[in-house]
Order: sequence, then C-alpha cells, then structure tokens
Amino acid sequence: MRTPLVMGNWKLNGTKESVAELLNGLAGPAAKATGVEVAVCPPAIFLGQTEALTKDGAIEFGAQNCDLNVAGAFTGETSAVMVKSFGAKYSLVGHSERRTLHAETDEVVAAKFKVIQDNGLVPVLCIGETLEEREADKTNSVVEKQLAAVIAAHGVAALENSVIAYEPVWAIGTGKVASKEQAQEVHAHIRQWLAAQDANVAAKVQILYGGSVGPATAAELFAQPDIDGGLVGGASLKVADFTAIIEAAQ
Ligand code: PGA
Repeated sequence: MRTPLVMGNWKLNGTKESVAELLNGLAGPAAKATGVEVAVCPPAIFLGQTEALTKDGAIEFGAQNCDLNVAGAFTGETSAVMVKSFGAKYSLVGHSERRTLHAETDEVVAAKFKVIQDNGLVPVLCIGETLEEREADKTNSVVEKQLAAVIAAHGVAALENSVIAYEPVWAIGTGKVASKEQAQEVHAHIRQWLAAQDANVAAKVQILYGGSVGPATAAELFAQPDIDGGLVGGASLKVADFTAIIEAAQ
C-alpha cells in the first residue's frame, strides 16, 4: 500500500554543469520506473535549475534544509516559502549533519518540521542513532525521542503528511551500511511505536532507510516489509548507481 520513494541527498556537491548532467541522465530512468517515486535534494542554489530540468518529468525535488523563519534579516538562509516557490515537493529536516554541524536540537527540528509543512512542503524527518548510542543499546529510545519531539509539538497527525528517514549516523557516508535485519528491526520498531499512537499514520507513513545505500545493497534493504525506499547520499551523485537503486525499488 505504501509506494516506495528513492530520494537523493546531494549534500554540498555539484556545479551547474554536473547538475545538468545528472538530471538529464536520470530523466529517462525515472520516467521508465514504475511503482516508485523518485526525488532529489540538490543544494538550494540549484533549485531553479532543478525545477527547469525536471519540468514535466518524473523526478520530484526538495531542499536539504529550510530556515525556521520564512523571511527577514537572516543572511545566508533559505526559507520554505522560497523552496516552495520553485515547485519543490519536499524538504529534509533534521539530517544528522544539521544536528551535529549546526547544533539543531530535537526542538529546533520539530519547529522546522512545522514551518516546512505549513508552507506546503512534505518534511522528510531524519532520525537515527550514533554508534555509541547503538552500542549502549539506546537505538530505540533515541529514535523515539526524536519522533516524540515532533509529536509533542504538533501531534501525531502531523506525521501523516511527512516522510521519515531512518539513518543510523554510523552508516552515513562511511560505506558501513546497516544489514537488512538491523534496518528492518528499527523500521518495524518505529512503525509499531507510531501505531500505538495512531494506527492510520503508522500504516501510511513512508519510512526510508539511509546510510551508505548503494546498488549492491538497495534491493535487499527495500525488500524488507517496513523499509519504503531510501535516502541516498554518495550513490545519488552517479547516474548509473542511482538508476540501479531506483530499479531496485520497483
Ligand atoms: P550516504 O548518505 O548514502 O552517503 O551514506 C546518506 C545521507 O546522509 O542521507
């Protein structure tokens, strides 16, 4: 019942030339793909170019981050209103790199989640534990706490029109992908934990896995019952790799 979603997170990568190459290269494979949604999250400066190059195509797009404010004296920031005005569908929120490098707390992430949603974008809420937390057996409590911050601020119904991305921090950019069993276990826990609060939301929300997803591991991850696609960093920067990952989700 849940359509898988394969989303690329380009992080701080690309030039006008490489963005054109990547989007033109992905247009065909995305159009051919059936039963899977395809999206990319370019750096904000490429949103206009992405809008132009994905027009009438099968690729959706989103921002990697939005500011808490929608306008005003906030030099260097990008607002959800701006992102929406380019025709974007999504915005990531709470990516672990934002949480650690930009000190975004659960509360800030929850507030941004709402600003993104209120401005017509679908928030892709990124959650996940560090290696230290996993080794201390805290994985479930960490993801619960990250989700609970959003639910406490906005209610569980706010998650209905959102996407959750479970990204174990130790797997991001490390080449150390979670095994399909490790990932499924956490995804199932997230869904059960949500179901205890709202069965409808739990059944509907797409939960993506992220963390070193590549062509070799995508199919077995996506075959798990509670994994509804992936949030893909490094491998989303290569047409061949991202195409293989899209195919693995069909
Ligand atoms: P990765 O990044 O696929 O390069 O590990 C995933 C992410 O940070 O979203």
